[in-house]
Amino acid sequence: MRRVVIIALAFSLLCACGGGGLVSWPEGRLAVDSLLEAQLCATDLLHAPLPLDTARSLEAEQLSRPVLHSEVLPVSPDLRDWQLGGLGTLTYAGENTLCLSLPVETGLRATGPAGDPDYATYGSARFALDLHGRDLTDFNRISMDVFPRCEGTAIMNLNLSIENERRGSLGAHLINLSLNRWNRIVFEIAGIDRDRVRWLHLYTDLKGRNQAACDSFVYLVRNVRLERVARTDRESGWEPETGHIVYSMTGYLPEGEKTAIVADTASQTFALLDAATHARIYKGRVMPVETTIGHYGVLDFSSFRREGTYVLQCDTLESQPFHIGPDIFTDATWRVLNYIYCQRCGEAVQGIHGACHRDVFCDHEGRSVSYGGGWHDAGDLSQQTLQTADVAHSLMEASQRYRDVNPALSARLMEEAEWGLRFVLRCRLGNGYHASSIGLLHWTDGIEGTPDDIHTVRKQQTAYDNFLYAAYEAHAARVMEASPLRDSLARAAREDYAFALAKFRRDGYDRFPHIMEHTYNTSPSQFHATMSWAASQLYRLTGEESYARDAAAHIRYTLACQETGLASGYFYRDTTRCAPVHSIHQSREHLYMESLVALCETQPRHPDHTQWRTAIRRYADHLRFLSAYTAPYGMAPSGVYHTGEYADSLGFYSLHIFAPTDAPERFERQIRQGVSLGEGRYVRRFPVWFGIFNGGEAILLSTGKSAALCGRFLRDDALCQIAREQLYWTVGKNPFCQSLIYGEGHRYPSMDSFSSGELTGGIPVGIRARDDADVPYWPQTNNACYKEVWTTSAGRFLSLVAEF
Ligand SMILES: [Zn+2]
Repeated sequence: MRRVVIIALAFSLLCACGGGGLVSWPEGRLAVDSLLEAQLCATDLLHAPLPLDTARSLEAEQLSRPVLHSEVLPVSPDLRDWQLGGLGTLTYAGENTLCLSLPVETGLRATGPAGDPDYATYGSARFALDLHGRDLTDFNRISMDVFPRCEGTAIMNLNLSIENERRGSLGAHLINLSLNRWNRIVFEIAGIDRDRVRWLHLYTDLKGRNQAACDSFVYLVRNVRLERVARTDRESGWEPETGHIVYSMTGYLPEGEKTAIVADTASQTFALLDAATHARIYKGRVMPVETTIGHYGVLDFSSFRREGTYVLQCDTLESQPFHIGPDIFTDATWRVLNYIYCQRCGEAVQGIHGACHRDVFCDHEGRSVSYGGGWHDAGDLSQQTLQTADVAHSLMEASQRYRDVNPALSARLMEEAEWGLRFVLRCRLGNGYHASSIGLLHWTDGIEGTPDDIHTVRKQQTAYDNFLYAAYEAHAARVMEASPLRDSLARAAREDYAFALAKFRRDGYDRFPHIMEHTYNTSPSQFHATMSWAASQLYRLTGEESYARDAAAHIRYTLACQETGLASGYFYRDTTRCAPVHSIHQSREHLYMESLVALCETQPRHPDHTQWRTAIRRYADHLRFLSAYTAPYGMAPSGVYHTGEYADSLGFYSLHIFAPTDAPERFERQIRQGVSLGEGRYVRRFPVWFGIFNGGEAILLSTGKSAALCGRFLRDDALCQIAREQLYWTVGKNPFCQSLIYGEGHRYPSMDSFSSGELTGGIPVGIRARDDADVPYWPQTNNACYKEVWTTSAGRFLSLVAEF
């Protein structure tokens, strides 16, 4: 019924708006882009996936570049230079073509590592071309044609890597494929050691049938070529991509700064052109700036606020059209919502998967509760219940943002939030227990009672997770007044909070039982901030004074953890003040400001009000202080690091799980790549990273949320600007001039979405740094987890959009 209402509302709005191209936001439209508007119609408002726009992708641009030199690697009919490993068969199909065939089913259970036996595949098929140590430095990319074939399924992909005799590979490059047609693919290798290449590897994993109506997955591969092009895309550093203006491809909000960046400071002037007529409507001077990261030219058109669609021009450089207007992030919101919808688990998503994982269970006190629900976490099919709750909360925030200006979008956001919340409620097992997570790589048959059933969903009853569930449930109950879920959510909020408080009073801080869960590194200061925020949410919901008293009491510990001296304002993990709070993957740092702003707003006459306000102001000053270190880009730096802070070993190793044995030495090396503040303190622009969990989107969007909360509360637009810049960075205002949302803007790269294929609105873990350096690194290699799509990034993006 709800869906019918939404669709009817959407169609009535569509009838009112008519066509039009990229123009300023007309009242009553669903989307800025008229093509997206039509797609929303065709998909019943995202009840089927949006189509992909590959034409504006980075790969399309790469394919359009003239090839200066090319060499086909011949395939001999006896395949003497090729080796096959694992599943399947490799045959010669004539005309320089290989045919790889692997069975859809092996008849065996998928097996994973001993410590995580259901993070598993059915095996892989690998084939490799022996290049005999050949020097490939005259070439800067590899291309080939691939024809994947299997009836019934839509998701097939191939991984490609080159193995040099010296220095190891960065990992494999995932290629998402369109089925039943030839795909021409390119892989730029300019950033990869290739002076003595031994092997060209190709492989694919077998991850289950997923509706396949055939017996074999077949890949035809032909014309493997070494190529040289005049220019490949930059992979590292702050310098803007050659031949591009760095700008927000979505556009700019009317208020606040509107800047773009060029590498060449010799240019004197720039212009803003009307996108439709190319008439010049604004002219400005290019400002040469020198910052801690280099020399740049800044195009500042902040004073121009007129809504519309424009193009930036500076010398021979010209941007694509972008918008200025209050609702410019509407289309990005639809697209990111599409991505979240496509990650639904437990029911069919057209063209991606059938009703999945209903046969994955959490066993508790004699019951088996199906874990098929919520959203798949990332490129794989893992799930974390609290992450689903995080994303549902962000969807509700975005729904509130669009409630009056775009009711159809608002309702669809709320519908998706309800999907997540139903799963969260179902995962409540009683007595504070929740079914909490599982790592999954494969599709099960979805039928209970068959041999591939899984019964290893993790569960736990930590106080921290229950506080956060209570906060989200209380907020949801308050904003979902008309929903049938409202009463269940309100009751769950009270119960989860009561359980969490009792457990904390009894046992103190949690010992988090599962290393792969995202709350594993929670610090005591964040613990108390979250307790306070949960209490404030319940106070807002119920008006009961006991919650207000709790909220004020819990925050006192957090306030005792704030730095008040050098680079004042950041929080330490605990009152020993040994280690500042850092985030390297998942981030909930915004909970500090969420808790303090909620206190100030709900208890304005409390005796501690001045303290709360001072703490917000201090933190705001800190964010302002940090922002200078990545100027003229707006990416929020990671923060202040102390030499020797790994002495807090419990905190250090809960943050850096699977840390190498030389982690303390590498930590010291990495912080010295930042900027010294004296007294053994350094600003790092990117987090200290040792392992696979690298990439910054969730972190910087969480910081952006903090800045937005501070800015709104203090009425300080400089803080709001820090928040806006995290959105702008995400949609193109980064050194690589790439949008990090597939389908939004242009030059968006293919992403590591190996289970569900390329998805419109897919958003990755994010731009990373390499080794011990403190500069951006965004290689062509499409691998985890920096380029892996992630619902956490999607949720954080929507949460920040909700602030504007
Ligand atoms: Zn699933």
